[in-house]
Amino acid sequence: MTPAPVTVIGIGPMGRAMAAALLRAGHPVTIWNRTPSRGDELVAAGATRAAGPAQAVAASELVILSLTDYPAMYDILGSVPLDGTVLVNLSSDTPAASRQAAQWATDRGARFVTGGVMVPAPIVGTPGAYVYYSGPPDVFDAHAAALRVIGEPKYLGDDPGLAQLFYQAHLDVFLTALSSLLHATALVTAAGVRAADFLPDALGTLTDIPAMIGDGAELARSLEAGEHPGELSTARMMGATADHILRTATASGVDPGLAAAVKSQYDRAIAAGHGDDNWTALYEVIRAR
Ligand code: NDP
Repeated sequence: MTPAPVTVIGIGPMGRAMAAALLRAGHPVTIWNRTPSRGDELVAAGATRAAGPAQAVAASELVILSLTDYPAMYDILGSVPLDGTVLVNLSSDTPAASRQAAQWATDRGARFVTGGVMVPAPIVGTPGAYVYYSGPPDVFDAHAAALRVIGEPKYLGDDPGLAQLFYQAHLDVFLTALSSLLHATALVTAAGVRAADFLPDALGTLTDIPAMIGDGAELARSLEAGEHPGELSTARMMGATADHILRTATASGVDPGLAAAVKSQYDRAIAAGHGDDNWTALYEVIRAR
């Protein structure tokens, strides 16, 4: 089957990587970017530069958006005819913004799929890449072959908010881990230790976490059942450690914000009667009620 034409709007690092992967896979690719020069390399590689957003949309049924956020989509497409277009928005925003955008696009005769790309630009289009999608299943299925070029598609369901919800939940893990790495490094460097003498083992702690807590199935079972047996470690013991970290940070002039937030979760869990339960009992004070 001849690869279908694809338009990519937004040629930041991610859009550039997507368009390049689509070109390599033989798709005719049209691009548009607010700052045209960012597309020069793609044009040299065979992409067609559209004169404006309307021409970009008219060039392909499938239009991929890779923008800083959803308001950028309204800025670009606000006055462009969209009837019959399939918009696949791979920009980051809230699930609510995705749902609102799906309605906006549908009202204008377009079909709308949301996505969250789970890898950085250098990995886009390689076997390690994957992308969450949500939206109308028939629309997703019809364009899955082209979308597979960007990364392995993981379709989540009809609700247009789901892809961004999953994206953000993963980024929640990622951003918190990155901040914890920097915080921990600040703790040791405040005592005169070189970052280089600490960070390799700290990264080891991150990669050891699955060995410590399992593949997620047992953790999920415990969280869903609300069962937190504390035979091997307790929230009280972990909370004491959280307090030691906070006091060390405060004493050494390191920003205490992250450590204080973690300690407060232990404090509230213990106050709610979970002191002798496992650390997983923190879920009871974190989750929505
Ligand atoms: P950037 O923010 O660097 O660039 C995205 C594009 O948005 C640029 O082409 C920019 O145009 C355009 N843009 C922003 N605002 C407007 C506007 N108001 N009107 C017109 N164009 C606008 O993003 P990335 O390429 O890094 O990422 C794209 C999306 O992918 C983001 O939502 C990001 O969260 C997500 N993502 C990024 C990853 C990464 O590693 N970078 C990894 C996974 C997901 P111009 O060039 O003119 O400024």
